[in-house]
Amino acid sequence: MKDVLPIFIMVDACGWEIVKNDPFAKAYAPYRHRLESVFGYSSACVPSILSGRWPVEHRNWCYFVYDPKNSPFKSLRPLRWLPSALTSRRIVRRLLTKAVKQQLNFRGYFDLYNIPFKHISLYDFTEKKSPLKPGGMNRGPNIFDFLTRRHIPYFASDPDSTERQNLDVLKEKITGSEIDFAFMYWPGLDGLLHAVGNQSPEIPAKLRHYDKWIQELLDHAKYHYREIHLYVFSDHGMANCDEHLDLRSKVEALPYQLGKDYAVVYDSTMARFWFSNDRARQAITQLLNQTPQGRILPDGELAEMKTLFEDRYFGELIYLVKEGVLIVPSHMGERPIRAMHGYHPTDKHSYATLCTNQHELPAQVTAIPDIFKLMTLEAEQAFTKNESFLSGTNKPEAVLAQTT
Ligand SMILES: [Zn+2]
Repeated sequence: MKDVLPIFIMVDACGWEIVKNDPFAKAYAPYRHRLESVFGYSSACVPSILSGRWPVEHRNWCYFVYDPKNSPFKSLRPLRWLPSALTSRRIVRRLLTKAVKQQLNFRGYFDLYNIPFKHISLYDFTEKKSPLKPGGMNRGPNIFDFLTRRHIPYFASDPDSTERQNLDVLKEKITGSEIDFAFMYWPGLDGLLHAVGNQSPEIPAKLRHYDKWIQELLDHAKYHYREIHLYVFSDHGMANCDEHLDLRSKVEALPYQLGKDYAVVYDSTMARFWFSNDRARQAITQLLNQTPQGRILPDGELAEMKTLFEDRYFGELIYLVKEGVLIVPSHMGERPIRAMHGYHPTDKHSYATLCTNQHELPAQVTAIPDIFKLMTLEAEQAFTKNESFLSGTNKPEAVLAQTT
């Protein structure tokens, strides 16, 4: 038996609008907070939560960048001769992704998505390490560096295992009272939301499923820890996509050549451009200004969101669409999906959630990077309390008190 265990469960895409009118977690974590998210995708949100810093500080923002000099994908160029009917197939992409990830020794999440092989050697992939491991950030430490340095025993979910497998491993660690901190990451809701949208009856059903698991975990943990400090939270929300924008066709209709005059990454909700000449820059800027589904983000606004990179590493010009618009086809996918995130952080469905059983939070938490502060405070406190709790029960007086 130990004194206290802080458990942090990240339910991907469980946004404020998803839970606002749903009883999710109310039975065991009744204190709810709406949190501001970070501009970008999970590739930006998760590292921000794990490090307490913003994209401009940790430099984990978008996956692909224009960087032909450092591109690790040169060996894939011969594949450009394969017919796109074959290479755009999801199953073929998945197999190739696996092979490339192994060959290049990428440690984090990796997906070739829908980047055409014709142009893939123009790009670099920015998440070569796993932010879910110590030393996994592009810059600076994360929570796992913090725990390792302080010798605080912890559980962190393994992204290669299923949600249920991770839950079972955590339950085992709890049985042995082995840990002073737990970080669980469940990605399933995000995938489901992308496929069925935020109004599907499958969403509350999935939330009931998580409710059951978390209750099961708490029922188990109470026999091994006197107190559980539970935090269930998300990295962002999810908006339905009701309008599609084929930006690629518009840009490619201009008399400029990709790879020669400009480079671009079409994410699902933004397009990031690099230019090698002013004529292309002007023409594309004009085109984007005349495309009302989105707008070019001014530097001031990027700076406010802490995504203005002085070296323009992630793009010289960022075009962001309005909530509900999906850029398709994009480098993320050839076909539409029902819902997406990665819109402006102040758009309605971008907000994230924090549900806890702690009436008072040990730190001020208004945006998702603040969760890092919570995690470090909780971990340090649990470590100290558990040590004195254990040594307290082993003290001679305690033994004497028990025997007399
Ligand atoms: Zn997602």
